[in-house]
Amino acid sequence: MTEKRWIAETLFEELGLRTSFAVERVLHETKTAHQHLVLFEHRHFGKVLMLDGATQVTSRDEFIYHEMMTHVPILAHGRAREILIVGGGDCGIAEEVLKHPSITRVTEVEIDASVVEFAKQHFPEFTGPVLSDPRFELVIDDGMNYVAQTARRFDIIIVDSTDPEGPGKVLFSYEFYAACRRCLAPGGVMATQNGVPFFQPEELITSVGHFRRLFADAGCYVAAIPTYVGGHMAMGWAADDRELRHVPAETLAERHAAAGRFPTRYWTPEVHKAAFALPRFIAEHVASADERS
Ligand code: SAM
Repeated sequence: MTEKRWIAETLFEELGLRTSFAVERVLHETKTAHQHLVLFEHRHFGKVLMLDGATQVTSRDEFIYHEMMTHVPILAHGRAREILIVGGGDCGIAEEVLKHPSITRVTEVEIDASVVEFAKQHFPEFTGPVLSDPRFELVIDDGMNYVAQTARRFDIIIVDSTDPEGPGKVLFSYEFYAACRRCLAPGGVMATQNGVPFFQPEELITSVGHFRRLFADAGCYVAAIPTYVGGHMAMGWAADDRELRHVPAETLAERHAAAGRFPTRYWTPEVHKAAFALPRFIAEHVASADERS
């Protein structure tokens, strides 16, 4: 009986923590121009994608992150048409965004073409509906270049990036957020992947500090994603309209109904509201960003 291979997530190795997955089958493993990519089958989480030793998406819990990174900013905004996704190579974010019939164009700027190619083969549940939707446009570029140069304006920018190392590092910089601010339309919202505050407090504090210097309303909301180990995942929130984070649950429900009441497995109007009620230790991180900015 051959020994089972275990693949470890090494993101928190410095903290003396490794999360290991028992591998049923390795489906794909390669070194791309930008990062190490491995996809394997796990008996509980299904397909698990890791980039540079960090879990990106699993077929079992992807719905939580993808629904909260998309429906929260879109339904809070209420009139969004043009969406920019930075990163998002697996197309899980785009798949949720395109569930909103009022959205007229979705532009995804991904640095690594091979992640999208690989997703076509291994995540057809995402790429199928996305790549066949005429509203979807894929740009292979560094997100920093794109937001620094584009003449277009977006109602919502969703930064579905890797962690602040390697190609993803620049996506947590002041320069990147300032360039995003430049290409946000008036009343626009930016939502960002911002790590797990229990293990990555600096990531959140630094980003919120940058947001604070650029936007009237800056902070985060949270969700718990089993394979983003460490409890709450923080999603950065940056907007000029302070009211957007306070849209009543009834209005969110009406907007979801107007969007065809597409099925969700995590997002509800009440969960949306509750996500902005931060546990004290995370609220204190956000507050400390003030002092620094
Ligand atoms: N949800 C995942 C997470 O929270 O860790 C992220 C998933 S998605 C696969 C991350 C994508 O960001 C990857 O496809 C990666 O290639 C892309 N990416 C990293 N740095 C980038 C950059 N500078 N510009 C555009 N895309 C980038």
